Amino acid sequence: MKKINFQNPINPVLDFSEQQLKHRNRIDKAIIDGIIKFQHSKCFCGETDSRKILDYDAWGFNIPTVICKKCRTIRSEYFMDDDSLNIFYKDGFYSAHMFTNSNNPSGVGVSLDNYLREEINKGVAIKSWIENQISFDEIKNILEVGCGCGGILEAFSNKNTQCYGIDYNEEYIEYGRQRLKNIELSVGGIDSLGHKKFDLVILSDVVEHLNNPLAFLDALKKNMSANGILYINVPGFFGISFRRFGNNIRQFTKIEHLWCYSLNSLKLLMSNAGYTYINGTQEVRALFYSNSDKNRFDSGNNYDSNLFLYFFTRYGWFRNINYSITRIIEKITYFFRSKF
Ligand SMILES: [Zn+2]
Repeated sequence: MKKINFQNPINPVLDFSEQQLKHRNRIDKAIIDGIIKFQHSKCFCGETDSRKILDYDAWGFNIPTVICKKCRTIRSEYFMDDDSLNIFYKDGFYSAHMFTNSNNPSGVGVSLDNYLREEINKGVAIKSWIENQISFDEIKNILEVGCGCGGILEAFSNKNTQCYGIDYNEEYIEYGRQRLKNIELSVGGIDSLGHKKFDLVILSDVVEHLNNPLAFLDALKKNMSANGILYINVPGFFGISFRRFGNNIRQFTKIEHLWCYSLNSLKLLMSNAGYTYINGTQEVRALFYSNSDKNRFDSGNNYDSNLFLYFFTRYGWFRNINYSITRIIEKITYFFRSKF
């Protein structure tokens, strides 16, 4: 495979501490040395044609961001290959919040106790959102893939529900094991699950990291019950630019974020993977059935957010208008969505 050469990194989009800059340069060296390798990416919809919207990612790496010309899903122009993704998550290149935080005594990211606390709070919010959509009566066991320390599962754990979490990061799993006694935690990916089947599967901040989400979602079905339910949350395009990421999409486009979904593009992905949409928000949070609906979702029918994304990515002036104006536009597009 042809090696993709990066130019020298530029300044990160946020002011970095000395530790963060050191960590960025360690990743850069791994790229130059060929330890972390990249390949040209392709949209999950099958389209390769795209428009470039950014040249550098948040860390300053020369990894451009593009928007698919067909379905308007935003992604990185280059993805790490499978082996490199493994190395990236297992060998200390990745740590939660490493881009925004450096209170972790071992380098960048959050300290483990803060991380676990954050997961536990997140779990409470996720559970209460799911409870508003579906009944928990039929749910006897729950799996979280990419569970970190397993704190999200804490909210779901009770005597009738068995909770099971997997993650590639040994340090997170070990930390969670010592503190969350009712949750079964193990190191690995979904290939380590064998024939176990789960009634509810949680993918919290996972799907934006996958280089082949279709293959992953397809494989995951083997571990879901016949009427299994899948919960997904990802940073949503309509949330990131105006709230969480300082009105600047470059803050989102980190080396580890391969995709930037809207609710529409997530629905399209899930439909292509053979799941059926139940409900969702632009945050993005959404629920799906693991079985396939014959009426496949077609992103071409969702003119509102596609049109918004077209303007956003095509015209700089549109990209720079402020939070309040974009909120009004979102409200108008939601109004039209409810009419048609
Ligand atoms: Zn596409």
